[in-house]
Amino acid sequence: MTPEDKVKAWNSRVGLNQAVVITKDSGLSFITVTGSLAFLNSAGTPTIFIGGVAGYYALERVTTAMEAPSGTCRICGCTQNRACRVLNGPCSWSDTDMTLCSACIGKALPPMPVRCLKDVES
Ligand SMILES: [Zn+2]
Ligand SMILES: [Zn+2]
Repeated sequence: MTPEDKVKAWNSRVGLNQAVVITKDSGLSFITVTGSLAFLNSAGTPTIFIGGVAGYYALERVTTAMEAPSGTCRICGCTQNRACRVLNGPCSWSDTDMTLCSACIGKALPPMPVRCLKDVES
């Protein structure tokens, strides 16, 4: 797949303000939202702007978040009628699908369960 194809493929399924997971150098994953469509940077690398963190990320470090029911925050479980409190009052939705609230954007996710490669011997 060429870099152009990767950008096209991403943009055909992910729009603006959609929940995504980014992986930092440290290996930690963070939940956030897209801040732009994917594009090729000046070096020809598929890149995307990310909301909730400064700057942009290489597209290969960004994955779409798991599907979650609309109207409930996927992290804290707050809803339209039971918002949680942030500095300036109740939280609001960070993504267009209403699955991530403003109090939870940028939160670190627990590390993925890693399958042990070594068989346990009894
Ligand atoms: Zn939340
Ligand atoms: Zn909330």
